[in-house]
Amino acid sequence: MHEFALIDRIRKQFSQTQPEVLLGIGDDCALLTPRATLAVSTDTFVEGTHFFKGTSARAIGHKALAVNLSDLAAMGAKPLYFLLNLTLPNTDESFAHELLAGIHALAALYQCALIGGDTTRGPLSITITVFGECPADKALRRSAAKAGDEIFVTRKLGAAAAAVYARKQNIKASTALCKALDFPDPQIALGMALRGVASAAIDLSDGLVNDLSHICEQSALAATLQAEDIPVSPAIDDLPGINAQQALQFAVNGGDDYALCFCASPLRREELHAICANLDLELFHIGVMYAKSDASQGSVQVWHGAELLPIARGFQHF
Ligand code: ADP
Ligand code: MG
Repeated sequence: MHEFALIDRIRKQFSQTQPEVLLGIGDDCALLTPRATLAVSTDTFVEGTHFFKGTSARAIGHKALAVNLSDLAAMGAKPLYFLLNLTLPNTDESFAHELLAGIHALAALYQCALIGGDTTRGPLSITITVFGECPADKALRRSAAKAGDEIFVTRKLGAAAAAVYARKQNIKASTALCKALDFPDPQIALGMALRGVASAAIDLSDGLVNDLSHICEQSALAATLQAEDIPVSPAIDDLPGINAQQALQFAVNGGDDYALCFCASPLRREELHAICANLDLELFHIGVMYAKSDASQGSVQVWHGAELLPIARGFQHF
């Protein structure tokens, strides 16, 4: 398909708009009049690095937008609009159609308007820039956790990492595992509900211990997690030959969950329960933030009863 025909098709397909978009696709620039503080984030999605060659075009499209929306969720922002930079290797119409359908379905779900982008030929790569809105004083920053805060997630973890493992080992993964990896579901409603309630939040893209260590660093604190309290996805049981210890590893060190991990004062516990009941989510209290007494100690430790798990030791340099 010719570049301009593709852009024209995109313009027609993505007809969703937003009141503050004065001018969308079609001119040299989009024109916006934002009403509130904007939360802005961008992520590039490259074949072989971010998704396996052979992943369905629909899943690639979905995930390219989902990982961006997940960053908005982790800030407590409401999605508004996005830019789409597409690099496509050829003019395969059905591939482009499916890719756009994957992006479109998720954009429609969050009424996120496509306002522009760029289209080029080259190795498959998708860069999306999302814009959301969030009151500046309520944004969920990584730097604002406090000693004594409790640490939570609202989803069972590790299924996406188990799917990556299965694909690398050429083991057939179940539908549930594939879905966790290919169609992550950004926790937008949760992020917005946590505004002013959670002290800090991050979305889990690189694994619980890794990502939580960013909150620790930026808040100058340490975290301790209790292994028994970390919710492990039951979908991992679908894989043959995986024991409980390996399943825990997927949940603790695996990536691609795109669940929110957040910190909140124990005083906010009731509000958190109400938020989760309202959103039909389970609240898992997995650990606690504390003041670091020794600068050389690891920022995230995972305990199994009284025993420090080796998974956490590997991360002591963080
Ligand atoms: P220019 O050469 O001025 O950058 P383009 O030909 O690249 O213009 O794009 C024309 C219009 O189409 C612009 O408004 C641009 O934002 C939009 N556009 C191009 N590619 C995409 C895309 N992949 N998704 C959404 N809008 C796009
Ligand atoms: Mg251009």
